[in-house]
Order: sequence, then C-alpha cells, then structure tokens
Amino acid sequence: MQTPQTSFIRAFKDNYIWTLSSGPQTVVVDPGDAKPVLNWLKQNKRKLAGILLTHKHNDHTGGVAGLLAKFSVPVYGGANERIDSVTQPVAGGDTITLDALGGLEISVLDVPGHTLGHVAYYVPSQKWLFCGDLLFGAGCGRIFEGTAAQMYDSLQKIAALPDDTLIFCGHEYTLPNLKFAAAVEPENPAIEARVKESLAKRQKYLPTLPSTLAEEKATNPFLRADQETVMERMVALGRTADKTPLGAFTAVRTWKDDFVG
Ligand SMILES: [Zn+2]
Repeated sequence: MQTPQTSFIRAFKDNYIWTLSSGPQTVVVDPGDAKPVLNWLKQNKRKLAGILLTHKHNDHTGGVAGLLAKFSVPVYGGANERIDSVTQPVAGGDTITLDALGGLEISVLDVPGHTLGHVAYYVPSQKWLFCGDLLFGAGCGRIFEGTAAQMYDSLQKIAALPDDTLIFCGHEYTLPNLKFAAAVEPENPAIEARVKESLAKRQKYLPTLPSTLAEEKATNPFLRADQETVMERMVALGRTADKTPLGAFTAVRTWKDDFVG
C-alpha cells in the first residue's frame, strides 16, 4: 500500500478542507465548497474517491452536492447527524476501510457537543485526527447543541489518543485562540512559544495546523481544565465555585463565548 498523504484546500475565510490521498485517489474531509475542491483535484491530477463529513454545518457540507454532480462517491457522516447527502452513516466504534486509498482504515469517534451528531475520524496507522469543529488550535468548538459535560467527555476521547497524533481542525483559529489561552493562563510559557511559532507561519500564509496532541495538551485551555492552576484561576476570577475539571471547563467555555481579545 502506498503511504497516504494529506494536504489542505482553503475555503471561505478560514476553513480547511483536508485531503487524504493515495496515488491519484483522494478523499476530502468537510467540503464546505465544491469549487476549490474541483480546482485542486484538477491541478493535482487527482480523482475524488469519497467524502468524510464531521458534522452538518453548511461550511462543512455545502460543497457535497457540487462534488456529487461530477463524481459518484460514497459520503460518510455521523448516523445521528442526519445529513441528507450521507450514503454511509457511521457511529463511534465503527471502522471505515477506504479501498480506494489502498485499504486505509479509519476509526470513527462520536464527539457530541458542537452538534449532537458530530463525529471525528482517526487514522490509527498514521495517527491523524480529522476533528471538524470539535477541537481547534488552542481552542474548541462552540457548544451549539450539546452540554458542557458532553463536550468535555468528547475532548477526553481525543486526549486519550497518542500524544504525537496530528490534529487536523476545520478552521484556522489558532492565533486568536492563543490570545484567550494566555488570558486563562498568563503564566504558561508554552502558550507564548506557540504564539511566536504560529505568527511566523501566518506571516507566510501557512496553516498553523495540523498541530500535535502534545502541543494542544500544553497550550489548549479546553484540554487543561484538569490542571490545578486552571481550576484555581477560574475560582479566583469568580467564574465558578466548582473547583473540578468539568467546573473549570464549563467556566472556560462560557468565558470564551464572549471573550473580546
Ligand atoms: Zn460547525
């Protein structure tokens, strides 16, 4: 089997449509727009072999119809998310085998919170995680449909993956998220270091992603709610009286919702 490769296609203001390829065959994750995908396939002489959807929001699914008009391919998506275009509903614990990509296996994780039927796709052989709007560089998705407890549990599933897992998020939000991370943890030197690194990448118009899980665990306040310093600070700031990881997580998420950097 050829080693699979990943790349990215920019869409809208800050979306990334991630690609998985083996030879000429390509599977795309969350095509919010068809046009940039069709252009990319043409430029790179690739054929579309499938579509993976993490959740139903239009900036992640809006390009599916346009792609299906040109390619007849399977569309994978969360069974609980009820996306009309999905032909292969999947749920946590399922393994997808992508024959077009040399039998590449993908594990499905149920990660409700941002939406109730949100799923993430993990490629164990490469340690790649395609997580849509669950996790961002130094941040996490807004809780539109689930509860803070559901979002927290979903993030714990990600935290349990190997530390060198590469995290492919749906949006380029890392720098503004780091501003918030620094407000949560002003004393954390890893955040400052990541700001410098990310600024250097953005100045060259490069993505700050994928990140590694280790990097997120060191800088992402939503994966650090179990840290004594974070729990203490949320209580000290009067944002919660509940000095537990879930209490701190809920307080951090609520703070971020109206944080102006
Ligand atoms: Zn979304």
